[in-house]
Amino acid sequence: MNMNDFLHCIAHHTGTPQLHGATLHTLQINLGARCNLECHHCHIGASPKRAEMMSSTLIDQLLSQLPAVGWHTVELTGGAPELHPEFQNLVTRLTSLPVFVKVRTNLTLHVQPEYKELAPFLRDRRVGVTGSLPCYLEENVDRQRGTGTYQAAIAALRRLNGLGYGHSTELPLELVYNPGTPTLPPDQKSLEARYRQELHERHGILFTRLIAMANMPIGRFRADLRARGEEKNYHALLQRAFNPHTLEQLMCRHQLSVRWDGRLFDCDFNLALGIPVNTPDPHVQALASTSATRSIATGDHCLACTAGAGSSCSGALLA
Ligand code: SF4
Ligand code: SF4
Repeated sequence: MNMNDFLHCIAHHTGTPQLHGATLHTLQINLGARCNLECHHCHIGASPKRAEMMSSTLIDQLLSQLPAVGWHTVELTGGAPELHPEFQNLVTRLTSLPVFVKVRTNLTLHVQPEYKELAPFLRDRRVGVTGSLPCYLEENVDRQRGTGTYQAAIAALRRLNGLGYGHSTELPLELVYNPGTPTLPPDQKSLEARYRQELHERHGILFTRLIAMANMPIGRFRADLRARGEEKNYHALLQRAFNPHTLEQLMCRHQLSVRWDGRLFDCDFNLALGIPVNTPDPHVQALASTSATRSIATGDHCLACTAGAGSSCSGALLA
C-alpha cells in the first residue's frame, strides 16, 4: 500500500492506515470544466477555454441509475454548471425525483442578460443555491476571481434575495468562503457572523449559511504555492493540524462524484486529480453497485480535509 502522509496520520491515531466509506447520501455531478471565470484558487482548473462537458448519453445513463441508490442530495457543479447546454433540462428531470437538488455557482453568471431567467427557474423548482464569495470585501474577491466579480456576485445575491432565497432554509442560499492565503480557514461560526453583519450592513444581503473551506493543495492553488515556494510549508501546516475527530464526517465517506466523462470519484478533489474510486468499474454504469463502504483512494492532499475543524464541500466538519 502507498503510505502517503495522510494515511500515516490516520495510522498514528487509529492504528490502521485505511479509510473506508460509510454511507452514500450525496451525489455530486460535475457537468464540465468550462467556466466564465478563471480563479487563482480553482482546483478544477476551470476556465472559458475548457471544453469538457457531460454528453446527453451520459446524462441519460446517470439518471437511469439514480433511483437505485436512494440519494438524499444531488449537487450540480463544474466549472460553471449553468453553462452546460442541458442544464435546465437536467434540473427539471432531477427535481421530478425524490432528491434535494443543489447548484454550486460562482453567482456572476446570474446577472448576465442571457442567464437572468435561471434564478427564477431554480426558485420555482426549490433548488438550493450554494454560491462562492471568498470574502465580504471587494478587493479580496476581485484579487482571487478577477476584476468586477465582487460587484456581479453582490448583484446576483440581491436578486436571489428578492426571489425569496436566503430568508430561511425553505430556499437555502449558502455562501462559500476559502482563504486567500495558505492558511487554515477561521472558525466557521464566527466568520459566518462577520459575513452576516458585513453583507447586511453594506448591501442588505441575507443568506442561510456560510461554508468555510480550506484550500486544497491541488490545481491552480498548488501552482501558486509552488511559484511562491510555499508548498512545503502549507503541507507541514496541514499535517501539524491533523485532527482525528474529523475522520467520521469526511465527505468522501458519505458521497460520490461523477465527472463529465462518466468516471466515478470519492470526492471532487480526487476528481480534479484524476484518482478514481477503488472499484473494478469506476464508471457511471456501475454507480448503483458502487459500495458505500469501499476503500477510499487517498493522497497527501487529503490532509486539507482533516486539518483543524476539518473541511468539506459542506463546510467545517466539526462545529
Ligand atoms: S473556482 Fe469556481 S468560479 Fe472559479 S474558475 Fe473554478 S469553477 Fe469557475
Ligand atoms: S480529499 Fe477527498 S478523498 Fe481525501 S479526505 Fe478529502 S474528501 Fe476524502
